[in-house]
Amino acid sequence: MYKTKAYAAASATSPLTATTIPRREPTERDVQIEILFCGICHSDLHSVRNEWSEFLPTTYPIVPGHEIVGRVAKVGSAVTQFKPGDLAAVGCLVDSDGTCLHCKAGLEQFCPNLTLTFNSPDKHLGGVTYGGYSAIMVVDERFVLRVPSNLALAGAAPLLCAGITTYSPMRHWVVTRGKKVGVVGLGGLGHMAVKFAHALGAHVVVFTTSPSKKEDALRLGADEVVVSRHTDEMRKHAGSFDFILDAVSGEHDINAYVNLLGRDGNITLVGAPAKPLGVSAFALIMARRSLSGSNIGGIAETQEMLDFCGAHNITADVEVIPIQKVNEAYDRLLKSEVKYRFSIDMASLKSE
Ligand code: NAP
Ligand code: ZN
Repeated sequence: MYKTKAYAAASATSPLTATTIPRREPTERDVQIEILFCGICHSDLHSVRNEWSEFLPTTYPIVPGHEIVGRVAKVGSAVTQFKPGDLAAVGCLVDSDGTCLHCKAGLEQFCPNLTLTFNSPDKHLGGVTYGGYSAIMVVDERFVLRVPSNLALAGAAPLLCAGITTYSPMRHWVVTRGKKVGVVGLGGLGHMAVKFAHALGAHVVVFTTSPSKKEDALRLGADEVVVSRHTDEMRKHAGSFDFILDAVSGEHDINAYVNLLGRDGNITLVGAPAKPLGVSAFALIMARRSLSGSNIGGIAETQEMLDFCGAHNITADVEVIPIQKVNEAYDRLLKSEVKYRFSIDMASLKSE
């Protein structure tokens, strides 16, 4: 065990500040990674402020961060896929039992014994796991991903959560050419959803509360943009969508979107507002529509997504910040002011 630099919050109302945390010496199956960039996901903010206390209560201090890219510093003796100097990436998962039905199906994200990258019981050191707002990470090789060499690293980091979380449901619900696909909320997840839906050939419509994001949405790959509070614009799309991905972090009226689905259309929630959303039974019943959820993606699919991004040259649009600006970044995230993901340059942690 040794100490490494990190940024942590001491309580739900404390800012993130510099600290040191323990990391383990790599075991034979571990990869030790020097972190280069870490994206800021809205889930980091929900967790730091304990907004999901009912489902995933936060243990303090918390070191968030699960959109991690870095360089391999050291590997254990049984590691075969990585060597010192390689690029490596880590997302939301760092371990699972490997034996349950979900793990056997390559869907580790549903494993009842999964270990999340932060705020999960740490099997090695006790306490909880600490995430990517830190200098070094040690992860079992099975949970380390490869980054295609053509992708810029600051923009590749957000693929590890925002990327896989939007890619996975689009593959599951078979988004392809000829499908009409809606994306609700043009934030970190939403802007990746637009890029993927466009790359998969769908007709993409963005729903936003921010009129100022209209031009960006078109540049990112949307075919149409609707400002959601304009009810007549919304009405024009009634009953017409095959699939809608809802990536909104706060309270909103989901029925407005259910009503835009055609017969047998599906709306999938990836956004995780703290409070329950009220769903109209009639909106679902009258056209055999379905409402579902989706949780990140498994390790194999995360690699598939990264390779897809390599082939299509897809990365997140990022604003790179030093770690010292993280609290300001959280305030801007809450105001939907980021275009479209903050990526922390972890070299900035060296000066702490
Ligand atoms: P984000 O960057 O803050 O984006 C959220 C977007 O939603 C905002 O940019 C805004 O877009 C819209 N929005 C925010 N509050 C709203 C409200 N009250 N009503 C209507 N629209 C609102 O967040 P993110 O990192 O993309 O994450 C989005 C959500 O997904 C979070 O709840 C996060 O925890 C969750 N998440 C889930 C998974 C999963 O596996 N399911 C994985 C990662 C994240 P406009 O300005 O365009 O309206
Ligand atoms: Zn995330």
